[in-house]
Amino acid sequence: MSAEGEGRAGVNENCPPEGKRVRIGKRKRSAAGIPAATSSLKHGLSRMGVTRTWKTLTMVNQKDGFDCPGCAWPDPVGKRSAFEFCENGAKAVADEATKKRIKPRFFADNSVQELSSRSDHWLNSRGRLTSPMYLPGGASHYQPITWEKAFELVAKRLQKLDDANRAIFYTSGRTSNEAAFLLQLFARMFGTNNLPDCSNMCHESSGVSLGETIGTGKGTVSLEDFNHAELILVMGQNPGTNHPRMLTALRDAKRNGAKIVHINPLPETGLVKFKHPQDYLKLRFGKDKLADKFLQLKINSDAALMQGIMKMMLEMDAEKSFIDHQFIADKTAGFDALKAHLESRSLDDVVVQTGLALEDIREVAVMCAQSRATIVCWAMGLTQHRNAVATIQDIVNLLLLGGHFGRKGAGACPVRGHSNVQGDRTMGICEQPSEDFLTRLGKAVGFDAPRAHGHDVVNTIHAMADGECEVFFCMGGNFLSAAPDTELTAKSLRKVALTVQVSTKLNRSHLVTGEEALILPCLGRTEKDLQTGGYQFVTVEDSMSVVHMSRGGLKPASLDLLSEPAIISRLANATLGGKVVDWPHLSADYDRIRSLIEQVIPGFEDYNERVRNPDGFVLPNPPRDEQAFATPSGKAHFSVHDLPDTSIGEDRYVMMTIRSHDQYNTTIYGLDDRYRGVKGGRRVVLMNPEDMEDRGIIKRQKVAIRSHFEGEIRSADDFAVIPYSIPRGNVATYFPEANVLIPSRSVAEKSNTPTSKWVVVSILT
Ligand code: SF4
Repeated sequence: MSAEGEGRAGVNENCPPEGKRVRIGKRKRSAAGIPAATSSLKHGLSRMGVTRTWKTLTMVNQKDGFDCPGCAWPDPVGKRSAFEFCENGAKAVADEATKKRIKPRFFADNSVQELSSRSDHWLNSRGRLTSPMYLPGGASHYQPITWEKAFELVAKRLQKLDDANRAIFYTSGRTSNEAAFLLQLFARMFGTNNLPDCSNMCHESSGVSLGETIGTGKGTVSLEDFNHAELILVMGQNPGTNHPRMLTALRDAKRNGAKIVHINPLPETGLVKFKHPQDYLKLRFGKDKLADKFLQLKINSDAALMQGIMKMMLEMDAEKSFIDHQFIADKTAGFDALKAHLESRSLDDVVVQTGLALEDIREVAVMCAQSRATIVCWAMGLTQHRNAVATIQDIVNLLLLGGHFGRKGAGACPVRGHSNVQGDRTMGICEQPSEDFLTRLGKAVGFDAPRAHGHDVVNTIHAMADGECEVFFCMGGNFLSAAPDTELTAKSLRKVALTVQVSTKLNRSHLVTGEEALILPCLGRTEKDLQTGGYQFVTVEDSMSVVHMSRGGLKPASLDLLSEPAIISRLANATLGGKVVDWPHLSADYDRIRSLIEQVIPGFEDYNERVRNPDGFVLPNPPRDEQAFATPSGKAHFSVHDLPDTSIGEDRYVMMTIRSHDQYNTTIYGLDDRYRGVKGGRRVVLMNPEDMEDRGIIKRQKVAIRSHFEGEIRSADDFAVIPYSIPRGNVATYFPEANVLIPSRSVAEKSNTPTSKWVVVSILT
């Protein structure tokens, strides 16, 4: 599959490496603590200086402040700590509020080709974009362009299209509710449902599996529930790096008597021990042990584990009633089929597939059986597999067996990795909108919304590859680096006539572009947003369906920036005119956008009034609120799934891509993965020491990786091997470096999510 963009053999120009000789240190046994505080300060002071560091870190996640541009972990209701952020939140803030600026001169001095040879870390560290830039067809350098000219240019390209579906509008999860609602309205009034978003690559599998079984695609727990849980299973998730404030909730749950089980192929430090840096201020020096049990299972054997545990629970139920039969009788359907399936399930298969000892599985099965209040948390380790939807439905089965919905301290908790990814979906950023949503939207605005479903992320790549996309508009994000199959995605992007990136920082998607390209720099979360209607706030929705305000407090990085809502409304006005929607009127005062949202989306009644409540408001969630399930039958559904075939053939390994502790999605803050002891480089492959010995591979030895998919081979070279605690036959690499190995046609059934956690590879020495 090597083609354009292939630099030195195997080293991808779409992801040039950085860093010298990788250093291997000890894996950390405790998360956060003083190292997290110093790292937060270091990132803050080196990028923002003293005053801005103090100002931003005392505003982030505060009731009158701005929402952290990091993950979607909720804020405490009621009293909040003066420093309501984690190390990676501080890095995300410092990354956006950096004092460094990219002026137009920078692009005059650096051609796209020259910039392409730079690493993602280097590109991101150049600072904030300050002015709109345009790359004409065939040009080597970006050049300045006025906003008017930029909107005119895009509008002309859109108006020229003979089919609105030749335009695609991508959204990254940092986009606010107001901007997301305007974008979907613009795209649909333009005539398309081509609204892919980053959720297609992450929790889409969660949305599909929960929607089918409990009638809502969202989690069913609140932050408060953690204080009442008896058992918390953390599956395929690394909260210490990706949702660090969750460790505080786990610590508090533990102090309230909960048991915690860590289920992951990797022994993630965050679940071992945790030290809240602010405890030192209270002269508390001890560390909190979090996980009571660690199940280091093989990649993609979570379904086998769930079925093994449920089988044991049914056996134990025969002696003493552990299963909630009343709840099952009243609220569910399909129990008998599941029971029969589990009775036929061989525990030997479970042991073989998981690689776990039977007694360890039984120990957790007893915990599950005895718990009256169980929460299951999960993330990408479950959602990015071919059978992801089925695996998550086995988690729902386990929760239904115990009646763990609509009960304090219990429920399903898919933890979102992007601050407003859930909000964007609620606002209608979705390629398969419901008829009800389109009807409400059409009625409220006065137009007939298109009904044909659009492209999600994977289908967007294929539409571009087939030359079916002429305008690709991205609201934030770094599509090229986030997407699978980097070579194909790069080639496909280059086939697009015009690519438009709304961004705060420079990234690879500004360098791998369509024939023409635009960079439209926008305001960040940390910045004041002044519109003709006065200073504005935006709103976001966290993982637990809490909608709240976010109001920036810093002077914008440049006077030439526009807010996300202003960019969309000006583009929509230039493209569609103002006959049906008075776009400038809407973006002049975001209360007007919220009033429109109120008319279209259930649960947003009195939006403007309720969102001004310092803690915001919680959206309705029938399973959580009243043990009600909005499925066609009105019941929650047990589901029966065979176990996946996890056999991979000789000399093959299963590779999963992971994040380091010094990155947030595709944004690389630094080259160290402190918790895993990997320093100074990212082109590494974590491998089981016995597997290395069998192959005669020594640590730091450079190897090439080849992925194998339906006869196709993808390649990536120059990876240093790191001996690491990971099950035999499994290996791990960082993304985006390894995304070139992920076939875009290897996707989860039903959700079409790329299988970034299951890539069959060989390792060449
Ligand atoms: S846990 Fe997530 S939302 Fe909270 S401060 Fe950290 S990165 Fe930001």
